Amino acid sequence: MIVLKFGGSSVKNSNMIKRSLEIVKGVLDREPVMVSSAMGSVTDKLQEIAYTAGKGNSETAENIFNSITNLHLTAAEELLQGENLSHCRDSLLAILKELGSIIKGLVLLREWTPRSNDAVLSFGERLSTTLLYYRALDEGVNAEYIDAREIVKTDDSFSSARLLEKESYGKIKKTVRPSKGRLIITQGFIASTLNGITTTLGRGGSDYTATIVGAALGADEVQIWTDVNGIMTCDPRLVNKAKTLKEISYKEAQELAYFGARVIHPATIQPAIEKNIPVVVKNTQNPKAAGTRIISSETGKGVKAIAFKKGITVINVISSRMLLAFGFLKKIFEIFEKYKTSVDLISTSEVSVSITVDNTFSIKNITEELSLIGSVSVEEKNTIVSLVGLGVWKRPETLSLVFNALKTIPIRMVSLGSSDINLSFVVPDKRADETVLLLHNVFFSEDLENK
Ligand code: ADP
Ligand code: ASP
Ligand code: MG
Repeated sequence: MIVLKFGGSSVKNSNMIKRSLEIVKGVLDREPVMVSSAMGSVTDKLQEIAYTAGKGNSETAENIFNSITNLHLTAAEELLQGENLSHCRDSLLAILKELGSIIKGLVLLREWTPRSNDAVLSFGERLSTTLLYYRALDEGVNAEYIDAREIVKTDDSFSSARLLEKESYGKIKKTVRPSKGRLIITQGFIASTLNGITTTLGRGGSDYTATIVGAALGADEVQIWTDVNGIMTCDPRLVNKAKTLKEISYKEAQELAYFGARVIHPATIQPAIEKNIPVVVKNTQNPKAAGTRIISSETGKGVKAIAFKKGITVINVISSRMLLAFGFLKKIFEIFEKYKTSVDLISTSEVSVSITVDNTFSIKNITEELSLIGSVSVEEKNTIVSLVGLGVWKRPETLSLVFNALKTIPIRMVSLGSSDINLSFVVPDKRADETVLLLHNVFFSEDLENK
């Protein structure tokens, strides 16, 4: 069997919904499970609803609610007719009624919590898959709709809930029974606790649902259908000369995702690794293009792609007491652990430590506690730029190419050698685009490729 995941842009309107269904209809003999995101930008709109409702701003929340309602009802009218249209409309309205009641409750309670936020965000996927299901029926496809919250179980870390693997795999195997000629449709991104409280896997998490379902069912392949031809040498929104990679290893793809390449969610690769399932990234608008295969084996050495993550904060701790003292770093990391803040890059000298974080939710508490250890300074608005590729830093010429190209860029931190597939450094946000373009030119111009 195979799993096909369609992102928000692949179901953003009735035309794209038709295209996505064409793609799955072409593989009905491969026992497909279709995992879908919300229609493009709907999750952002729901996010605004959750926030504004929680602040008591019912008018704004209601306006956005109305635009979501219109979007889905219009799509239903464009996609369906007769009984399927009326059943679909009933289902959409029932889901929207539930959302409307939640919004009213949040306005009254002035509640904006991670739990209520997840409850609101979950509606996008529920609505989009309802449209897909009825359109599939309308086209005569033998379709089945499964609510992902029944099969994907997590803990209650709302907004980026952790998978309960055993429970989820058990439920998926029991409930999801792919067969030839039949299409199973379910939602990405949404899940629930063992008590049935709705959770989400984190923004962009539908990719992760796809590999969870794929791993549980031992899929032959997981396909991620999106709006680019595959994983590219860089985000094509910034680098228009970016090229599509034919293949990339699990480890490299994981690293790229973690360091900002949004094309796949960072958690996506882990379930695929466990069951050795190839993940293929493909373009819904250009299905004939081969896409990128993410596989277990090595796919050649050298820089494969450049990722970047903006809006990073650097925290520096300087203390002469660090000199020759042991246990110093432990104390520092305990503070980050206490505030559940994960650290990306670290560089240390004899008397100082610099640490980057992208989650600044607890930064005030963290810096207060760090100042008991040494003097602390915080630098906001930085970007981590990462060159990713197997053995990336082992070639001496890589470093000279990088530093030569970036002669005029104030590089703030460098992390080299902690893994053999990543060379990362920190530059100010306002020089980030320039940095990435310079590097892309160096590593991916025709004559210097595969450095
Ligand atoms: P979807 O809605 O299908 O999940 P996303 O917007 O989450 O799509 O991811 C696709 C986007 O990822 C692309 O439009 C592109 O701008 C961005 N992206 C970032 N880095 C890369 C990369 N290295 N290769 C391809 N796309 C990338
Ligand atoms: N709809 C969710 C989001 O926008 C999940 C996803 O698209 O993967 O974050
Ligand atoms: Mg995505």
